[in-house]
Amino acid sequence: MLETMKEDGLDSVHGERAQVPLWVRGKESATLLEPRNQNLAMMGLGTSVGTSPEGITAEVLVVQSFDELHNRSKEALGKIIVYNEVYTSSGTSVMYRYHGAVQAAEVGGVAALIRSNTPFSIYSPHTGVQVYEDGVEKVPAACITVEDAEMLSRMAARGTKIVVNVKMEAKNHGLVWSRNTVAEIKGSTYPDQVVLVSGHLDSWDVGQGAMDDGGGAFISWQALSAIHHLGLRPKRTLRAVLWTGEEYGAYGSKKYYQDHKNEAHLMNIVMESDIGTFQPLGFRFTGSSEAKGIVSEIMRYMQPFNASRVLNDADGSDIEMWLADRVPGGSLLNQNDRYHDFHHSNGDTMTVQDPTEMDLCATLWAVVAYCLAEMDEMLPR
Ligand SMILES: [Zn+2]
Repeated sequence: MLETMKEDGLDSVHGERAQVPLWVRGKESATLLEPRNQNLAMMGLGTSVGTSPEGITAEVLVVQSFDELHNRSKEALGKIIVYNEVYTSSGTSVMYRYHGAVQAAEVGGVAALIRSNTPFSIYSPHTGVQVYEDGVEKVPAACITVEDAEMLSRMAARGTKIVVNVKMEAKNHGLVWSRNTVAEIKGSTYPDQVVLVSGHLDSWDVGQGAMDDGGGAFISWQALSAIHHLGLRPKRTLRAVLWTGEEYGAYGSKKYYQDHKNEAHLMNIVMESDIGTFQPLGFRFTGSSEAKGIVSEIMRYMQPFNASRVLNDADGSDIEMWLADRVPGGSLLNQNDRYHDFHHSNGDTMTVQDPTEMDLCATLWAVVAYCLAEMDEMLPR
């Protein structure tokens, strides 16, 4: 007779409620009407308002930058503003996605079409959140492909009249309840002290969200799972938190911080992976130089797969409030040059993820978390 495997899962697996915005894309399209008829691949941006069923039909003003928009503000009234800002870095380009609609509306524009925030394109629109401002008319905002933004820009440079129709069913439904998902291995000696590993469980509605942030959520769960299956129980509690509502502005992690900030002195380290789980290279760390020295010692275990680098400044929107509270923080350094090729697009699928690279990322995550949970002392602050 087969022996039944003991079903002892992780400890205190539970959800913690948090409110998140509910935005539904619906059907959407952008059609070039003049100088010729052509469909333009597009994706509405998260939180954008929709249009009437007939959509918005208007002449287009193409600009390369916010400065150009302001210099040409007299031409903007009643137009669809197309931003063709050439990608230099994600952090620069994302400003057009965030603020393109508000800036367009401020000069009388009726909609914003924004070149996707990506260094590489095979005719792929890349969505993401955008933000309205109080007192500024809410106009529809969508991203278009690099290819179409450049085409429209060439047409405009020749003085060609461009007319586009934009239709979007997009609708905001206010805040709804969701949850952060939590699982632990309770510490054997200092159960109140916590090593937290995390990624976000929400993703955009396009693609599969396998990379952003299925990978980060997976390795955080996998780190605990592997340690558990090895029968190990470190001195401190290991806690995996899979955040909700990150894409709309870290809603889940902000609520978690609110609910748990009185435990900041018990947080040994907060770790987040949300910038890819490609070939691991090392660890980004925020904390005292003494703590960084300890982390660097642990990272020497990663030398067999060349992932022992330690850089400053842990990265991650879901842990930054803890870092501001002087809790040490870490994020996964990985070979993520291609991250923005897939980011927030239909191309973010399981195909992007390499099982071996993910196993190495999970290994790094598990070893760092375990060692910090097992040390005699908390990391010095
Ligand atoms: Zn993400």
